[in-house]
Amino acid sequence: MTLRVPRSCLDQIRAAGQDAYPLEACGLLIGRDGEVMQVVPADNISATPDKAFEVDPQTLIHWQKKLRGTGRCILGSYHSHPDHPAAPSGRDRVRITEDGQLWVILSVTPDGAGEINFFQAQEGDFAPLKVSVF
Ligand SMILES: [Zn+2]
Repeated sequence: MTLRVPRSCLDQIRAAGQDAYPLEACGLLIGRDGEVMQVVPADNISATPDKAFEVDPQTLIHWQKKLRGTGRCILGSYHSHPDHPAAPSGRDRVRITEDGQLWVILSVTPDGAGEINFFQAQEGDFAPLKVSVF
């Protein structure tokens, strides 16, 4: 599967990662099957936001309700890795809860936003996802 992602959503994720640096930024990806349509920033409520993320559950509940019946849904989440590569960490791996969820990881350094990679949770692991930016 190739996931369609608007360039504006990538720009938003990069900006969020830069703004949060040196802490991890996080948020939700909203869309429909095969297409990201919207990025929603969320507070990172992790007790150690310099090396982990936890999407504010209030944001999650708000959007689950708001999207009901719209044909759109929460596809997954994005988060940034300050001073680390855009690859899933061991901590991310144990946080996979649902197959099919999208995981977007952005690397950020003092120079700014770097690589951004897309993964899909499959059988408790991360499968790299091809992306078509439009
Ligand atoms: Zn991570």
